[in-house]
Amino acid sequence: MKTQVQFADISHTGNRYEISEDSWLPQHELKRIAPVEAEINLNRKGDSRVEVHGFLKTVITLVCDRCLADYVFQVDVVFHLILDASLEKSWHMKELECSDTDLDTIMLDQPVVDLEEILRQQLYLSLPEKLICSEKCKGLCPHCGTDLNDTQCCCVSEEKVSPFAVLAKLKK
Ligand SMILES: [Zn+2]
Ligand SMILES: [Zn+2]
Repeated sequence: MKTQVQFADISHTGNRYEISEDSWLPQHELKRIAPVEAEINLNRKGDSRVEVHGFLKTVITLVCDRCLADYVFQVDVVFHLILDASLEKSWHMKELECSDTDLDTIMLDQPVVDLEEILRQQLYLSLPEKLICSEKCKGLCPHCGTDLNDTQCCCVSEEKVSPFAVLAKLKK
């Protein structure tokens, strides 16, 4: 897969890339369990700016922070951003002032688009801040390490009883 695209190689009508390869995916961190479906469109916005839009879809497995079990996560991102390779600062300021867009701008050292890098970034941005298999995940018992989603251990039931016992006393 050709992943580096020079700004100069982007045609006036824009370049479109359909990506089904996963060579860009950090496989040691994220396990992919469905094909990659992605599209990246590049459009020139002047000499040093390129507008990027596209989408990324796949399915990966993540590890739950609470119970440490693998769980399935659907990646479904739509992205739209600007790549800016204007090196001169004054130039850049001028451009920002003229810019009428609220799109995220990524500054580049060179006028080259790295398609793989864009996909990787978008994938990481799409991950939730907290990796939890389910809102209802009970996690592991801090005392004995039992997965509380599967089994109830003795250490927890003791703690659970006490607040109700207190309430029962108050009612009387
Ligand atoms: Zn969990
Ligand atoms: Zn326990």
